[in-house]
Amino acid sequence: MRPDGTPWPTVVDIDGNTWTRRPPSRLSPSAFNDWRSCQRGFAFDRIQRRPSEPGLPATIGVHVHRVLDLVMELPPQERTLDRALAIHEGLNTKLWEACRRLQAGEPAAEVVGDRDNRDEDIRHAVEVVVLRPGLRAWNDAVERGVRGYFAMASPEKVEVIATEQKFEQKWEVRDSGLIVPITGSADRLDRLPAEYGGGIRVIDYKNGKVISPKFDKGEHDDQILTYAAMVEEDTGELPTAGLLLYVSHQKPKHVEVTPERVADVKGRIGRAWADIHDKFEDDSYEPNPGPLCGWCPHIRECDAGQAEVRMRAARGTGRGGLREDAPARTLLPDLSLASV
Ligand code: SF4
Repeated sequence: MRPDGTPWPTVVDIDGNTWTRRPPSRLSPSAFNDWRSCQRGFAFDRIQRRPSEPGLPATIGVHVHRVLDLVMELPPQERTLDRALAIHEGLNTKLWEACRRLQAGEPAAEVVGDRDNRDEDIRHAVEVVVLRPGLRAWNDAVERGVRGYFAMASPEKVEVIATEQKFEQKWEVRDSGLIVPITGSADRLDRLPAEYGGGIRVIDYKNGKVISPKFDKGEHDDQILTYAAMVEEDTGELPTAGLLLYVSHQKPKHVEVTPERVADVKGRIGRAWADIHDKFEDDSYEPNPGPLCGWCPHIRECDAGQAEVRMRAARGTGRGGLREDAPARTLLPDLSLASV
């Protein structure tokens, strides 16, 4: 029910399922990123709240993050690759036992959770059960991320302030009277050595590839800048540096953190929040067709996305076309290569 007691509107999808539409109660850096990427996709995921299938790369990324969090919580001299791999093994044993229990219909909560986030750990185990990665492929992928971090960083030299720092804030957007409820969790906050100014540095681990400069619209930079804004809001101290670590690909990317860049991202988040609510009543969220439509789970219900993938499919499977493994080829049977 809405605050005035009237029901929220509903939509019926092409399979006859009914979904209630409710505006989000807060934004996170990843929600802002989804909004920037495609408003219509955002509406399917975060206004109609349709469940989405977990993706294996993201699930592997969660595990790599956990290993790196735990190793960076150790005293500096203990942050070694061997120790990290041992942490991975320990987490893995619990995770696969939790998966076994979930599949057998047994309670799994007591075997997971080195930290105070048991619900997240169970969700993670459920994703692994759904995705069924082979143990060897799983281990290879996790180890690639963990080894990649040690290949490009000197963790024993880092002064860690916090790992998985959670934020829950209300931002007042300057000159607009808008309040944006914002939430997020920064992977790591470091204190830089005095010779580098002694400020706070925001770290974000990425398990995927560096975005090619041709397609980079600054979304990963914006995540760092948003966390910087959150740190300033909580502590009064604006971080002075940001670092994206693409661990599996061993690529670091430095992000310039300045008051102007942070104010800019705050302004854009404020405008996004206003836009999300302004467009709610008439559901006028715009599609943003592009190469990612081939991977969008909502393609069956998006005319603009279908036009895009059909145009690409007509070009074949190479550059500018629709890749052979794009899920749209399964979701739209006439694009299946078997039907050609
Ligand atoms: S198919 Fe493309 S345009 Fe449509 S919702 Fe998905 S990403 Fe957006």
